[in-house]
Amino acid sequence: MSTVILDGKATAKAIRRELKKEISTLDYTPTLAVILVGKDPASTVYVSSKEKACKWAGLKSINHHLDASTDSETLRNLIIKLNNDPTVDGILLQLPLPSHMDEESLLMEIIPEKDVDGFHPVNQGKVLLGATKGLIPCTPYGIIELLQRYDINPSGKEAVIVGRSSIVGRPIAALLISLNATVTVCHTKTKDLKFHVSRADLLVIAAGRRNIVDSSWIKKDAVVIDVGIHRLDDGTLTGDIEFDQAHALASAITPVPGGIGPMTIAMLLKNTVLAAKLRRSN
Ligand code: NAP
Repeated sequence: MSTVILDGKATAKAIRRELKKEISTLDYTPTLAVILVGKDPASTVYVSSKEKACKWAGLKSINHHLDASTDSETLRNLIIKLNNDPTVDGILLQLPLPSHMDEESLLMEIIPEKDVDGFHPVNQGKVLLGATKGLIPCTPYGIIELLQRYDINPSGKEAVIVGRSSIVGRPIAALLISLNATVTVCHTKTKDLKFHVSRADLLVIAAGRRNIVDSSWIKKDAVVIDVGIHRLDDGTLTGDIEFDQAHALASAITPVPGGIGPMTIAMLLKNTVLAAKLRRSN
């Protein structure tokens, strides 16, 4: 059986095309406010990709690029202003914030209805309670959407997730439970990572560490989702696992780049359109 490449780039493009069509039928323009504090190079690239994607699909993005020395109160006041602005549908606070700011409390300031990243405890809580629709955190949402578009049903599968962060590991675990997978979540205190990885029908690796999962551990015909992103010294991007050997064993696998990264941006746009529609239906 030849291995299917789960093409996040092409799938994200298809989603953006669908959104563009949908937006053209609306009598308003869904609007995303993007806040970037400082000039972290990776964040600047992410924000510019998100802004470009919005423009392409017909969403409006309003950019608030603040100096790295901005104090927390100024940022808090900006978020409150955007919460109260009826022309704004979604608010994106690009992380990481400068070290003098408390990310958690500032993220919580965004009202759940405009939390298009899906990080607010209300939106995370809904996912934990079984929601698979709504403002779902973008990266896990992108994983689920990619699986669905390739007709990969997690139901009944042994799903193993490496990583338990609040933006990837925990919400993807909750979503996969809702989709009837049997889920194991691994982390730095997991005793035998190889044991868990080698019995996964569906493996999601989101550790942010290269090669902690040896590709040779992968079960034959597993579906492998590599969320990690690393820039090598020569400038190329790579994921958490060594691709070639994983590709030889898997039935389907995401590439890096071109896998979960573009899907995450597409889901941000999808969440913004959903937030715009929900606000107007209430
Ligand atoms: P994070 O907050 O640093 O969490 C990493 C998780 O991996 C933690 O739960 C950690 O366990 C676990 N881990 C680390 N080393 C491990 C080891 N040796 N064995 C087992 N578990 C280990 O990272 P994150 O924000 O979830 O991001 C993970 C990766 O995904 C990063 O490379 C990030 O750049 C990438 N990412 C990509 C996208 C995208 O759009 N493609 C979006 C978000 C993140 P403990 O909890 O025990 O510390």
